[in-house]
Amino acid sequence: MKRYFAIVMVLILGLACVACKKKDNIIEYSKDLSNYEINLDFDTDTKSAQASLSLDYINSSDDMLNELKFHLYPQFFKEDASHLVVGSTKLNDAYPNGMSYSEFDINRIVVENEDKEIQYQGEYNDILVVNLNNHLLPDNRINIFIEFSFSLPNCEHRFGYGNNTINLANFYPIMCVYENGGFDESGYNPNGDPFYSDMANYELTINLNNSNYIVAGTGEKTDVKLVDGKYQTKFSAKLVRDFALVLSDKFEVISGKVGNTKVEYYYFLDDDAKKSLQAGLDAIETFSDLFGDYPYPTFSIVKTDFIYGGMEYPNLIMISADIENIDDYMNVIIHETAHQWWYGMVGNDEYKYPWLDEALTEYSCLLFYDNNSGYNLTHSEMLSASKENYSLFVTVYQDVLGDLDTSMRAVNEYDTEPEYTYCTYVKGVLMYESLYQLIGEKDFITGLKNYFNDNKYTNVIPSDIIRAFEKACGNELDNFFSSWIDGKVVIR
Ligand SMILES: [Zn+2]
Repeated sequence: MKRYFAIVMVLILGLACVACKKKDNIIEYSKDLSNYEINLDFDTDTKSAQASLSLDYINSSDDMLNELKFHLYPQFFKEDASHLVVGSTKLNDAYPNGMSYSEFDINRIVVENEDKEIQYQGEYNDILVVNLNNHLLPDNRINIFIEFSFSLPNCEHRFGYGNNTINLANFYPIMCVYENGGFDESGYNPNGDPFYSDMANYELTINLNNSNYIVAGTGEKTDVKLVDGKYQTKFSAKLVRDFALVLSDKFEVISGKVGNTKVEYYYFLDDDAKKSLQAGLDAIETFSDLFGDYPYPTFSIVKTDFIYGGMEYPNLIMISADIENIDDYMNVIIHETAHQWWYGMVGNDEYKYPWLDEALTEYSCLLFYDNNSGYNLTHSEMLSASKENYSLFVTVYQDVLGDLDTSMRAVNEYDTEPEYTYCTYVKGVLMYESLYQLIGEKDFITGLKNYFNDNKYTNVIPSDIIRAFEKACGNELDNFFSSWIDGKVVIR
């Protein structure tokens, strides 16, 4: 996600805030993954859906499993958990027409032809537990069928709708990551993008009652046709960690190509749509050169009703229609595109280590400007702004709080959104600039190439990025990183 740090306002308001080989590569990597098949009948009038998920799950752990667990993120958009969706200072932006809540129900679960009891866990029934009839051995597969239904809140967020778009992200049961002998059951938080998932393959069919709507989604659009009076769009996405859709009856679409990737821009009200598309094309090209190829056939830049600057999903980024400044708009496109590498391909637990993808994604924007002089922002301008903003943040917050914790921590460990934003993004830029100066441009870029190549399509932990830079420069870097992450470093 891209958050704005309108520093003075936020602080005063206080505590508020390319080539063809690619495709073969994807097919090879996608063979041993779980397969999600999602069918969605969506009513654009009521903003509600009847849906089903058929999951062909592979146990890629070394343990025998006797149950599976799924995140049910729509549960957090219900009234009792809505305080976790957005912070109190953002309520008016998120719900411009007043508070509005989701409905969400699991209606049926079938495992191996047997109906199963619907069992929820978590404070907000946000975890679905499916007991298995037999132990699922490592490398074995099982099919789980789940029927579910939901309605969206009138909320300008990832799961909600505004005046222009219907944002359908995090709407389906998604497997919790299994690691260290258990399933990750992290909940939701208004800070950051509190998600963590494994790579999988997706086939999605969405049926609409209204032909005026255009659908943007993760992966390739494989078919658009009329079926039994419904307007059907099919998508196929391999080797992605999530699937998102955006619907609108106002979309215009333009496209371009970089390597073998078709880049589409879905928008409404953009006087310079070609420029917005070009930013996406430039970003895909630049980051492919810097870090490693973007291997997917599609990438969609989608203008949406969204309270924050933007939001990343695999092959699809949401860009907020609220951004008025063109340079900010370009910058958000570049930031969210960088997430295709840091989050999309190299994954991490965004709840526990939000800095791991966000700091590097934000710093990737500085590297982008080093390589693209036709934009109204530069590496040094972004760096100066980060220094000034961080320094002001520390000064103001120390006055307010006395002892300020500047460690880079889990999303739920920040008391306020500005603390999350400044410690994760702004301090993150300063950390990577410090490393860039310490080891030099050549080793820095080599480190990022190592990090990408050694970890793409997997999930990483902090030591993975430290090892990647150590491999590039030959020096021990644990102390460097811990001084920044633990909040001990003094920034002048
Ligand atoms: Zn981000």
